Amino acid sequence: MDKSHFPKCLRCGGAMVCDKFYGHHEQFWGWKCLICGEIVDPVILENRQLMRAGQEINVQRARVRR
Ligand SMILES: [Zn+2]
Repeated sequence: MDKSHFPKCLRCGGAMVCDKFYGHHEQFWGWKCLICGEIVDPVILENRQLMRAGQEINVQRARVRR
């Protein structure tokens, strides 16, 4: 993870910091908002990227059909 790049909170636009969280069976690193406490973990980020990729694929398929 690039330490020089800090994502902004999606809820309040505040600064987020990398923090360690504890899941059911494992520990993981995620992002926590300093202002409102919003937590973004790697699973959430991965799901968003998958959804985004799926939308791009659908768009490409739609263009091919035309
Ligand atoms: Zn926030």
